[in-house]
Amino acid sequence: MSASNKKLSFFENVNRNFDRATAFTTHPKGLLEQIKGCNSVYSFQFPVRTSKGFETLHGWRVEHSYHKLPVKGGIRYSDTVDEDEVKALAALMTYKCAVVDVPFGGAKGAIKFDPKNYSSSDVEIITRRYTSELIRKNYIGPGVDVPAPDYGSGAREMAWVADTYAAFNPGKIDALACVTGKPVAEGGVRGRNEATGRGIYYGLKEATDNSEDMKALGLSRGLSGKRIIVQGLGNVGYHAAKFCQEGGGVIVGLAEYEGAVYNSKGLDVDAVVQHRKETGSILKFPGATDIEISAKALEMECDILIPAALEEQITSVNAPGIKARIIAEGANGPTTADAEQVLLQKNVMVIPDMYLNAGGVTVSYFEWLKNLSHVRFGRMDKRFEQSAFDRILHAVEDSTGKPFSDSERSKIAKGPDEIDIVNSGLEETMTNAYNQIRDIQKSNNGILDLRTAAFLSAINKIATSYIELGIFP
Ligand code: GLU
Repeated sequence: MSASNKKLSFFENVNRNFDRATAFTTHPKGLLEQIKGCNSVYSFQFPVRTSKGFETLHGWRVEHSYHKLPVKGGIRYSDTVDEDEVKALAALMTYKCAVVDVPFGGAKGAIKFDPKNYSSSDVEIITRRYTSELIRKNYIGPGVDVPAPDYGSGAREMAWVADTYAAFNPGKIDALACVTGKPVAEGGVRGRNEATGRGIYYGLKEATDNSEDMKALGLSRGLSGKRIIVQGLGNVGYHAAKFCQEGGGVIVGLAEYEGAVYNSKGLDVDAVVQHRKETGSILKFPGATDIEISAKALEMECDILIPAALEEQITSVNAPGIKARIIAEGANGPTTADAEQVLLQKNVMVIPDMYLNAGGVTVSYFEWLKNLSHVRFGRMDKRFEQSAFDRILHAVEDSTGKPFSDSERSKIAKGPDEIDIVNSGLEETMTNAYNQIRDIQKSNNGILDLRTAAFLSAINKIATSYIELGIFP
């Protein structure tokens, strides 16, 4: 806990990290205040009639920064959400987009309810009503504010959002670009569902590939063989665990709210998920040790800990017991500012959320581009590229007199599908952004932690936008 012994709110934690980074800038105070605060907070209640009867629910949409439009960010469905949380998450979206060069401002929305307690037609009614409240105040639109899934919502809900928006805007040709994370059949892009988890994998791969940094942590180079614990088996945690496992990492621990399982020899992610589906609990997975108190899993032996559940999981209370050498933040805000100080003193590398989980919004950006262009990625050039490669292979065969086999030919002479383009765009984005942050860290005599470097990167880019807009000198 901080010196004042006061527990900081989530938004205060984000702002404390922001303030730490501003010490390394020369921007005027007014400009920094403009970047830090939420530009607009819409808090509202709305009535719904569900199978439970009449109810009044509370909703929010926070637009944190208008330095670029549209603003972008998910909609959280949770019965514990409050305004401070939505503001913190909206702010993180601004910094996240800036870090990975996605040209959006940040936003976040929420509905205070637990979708698990409602039928799917109730969730549809609630989603459509929430959307119409956003439309009423111009808090949604392809060039204004573009929501996406977040904790508690998914592709199904985004299809309802898109359909409601289209119904209120007949003939609007870009209507589908009003929301991302839609099902592929409803204007979504291939690869969006697994994008956050895949982005975490690309980010970790890049970080662990640097032998100098790994040596400083007492680790060998590369992701292969690294022992990993993942907290949260939702969309983000599951995909992060799965891609890391496929990339050679050893998943030694998996934690959910009912408990955790640990096996130093490794767990098969899909088998654990299947076991949980069949038995209703992650516990009692064959060959693994049960950890009844889920939070204890964070303190088990491993090289990399991926908190991919909710915010404020690593606190000043459990940080001293954490054994991981790398914390890879899959969730938004999983480490409190106080806990981070404890970790940094122990020379732990913390790869911050605003960089590491930016894969979701990156692929959302690709989906938005697809919706605005009204054409699937690869549709125009796939066959052309395929024939170009084919002509090169023929020329090589002619000059060497050696024919390629069918399997060699189909592997080399292949035009890209949408998924290939999305994944390569994602890998390029995550790799470049990591190196930008690392360069900032190094150019400050290596005294910055990665989060401060990421904030510095974001603040400088946003400040440049404001200066270019002529709003600040
Ligand atoms: N909710 C996700 C996040 O926190 C995705 C946001 C988006 O795609 O707009 O990054």
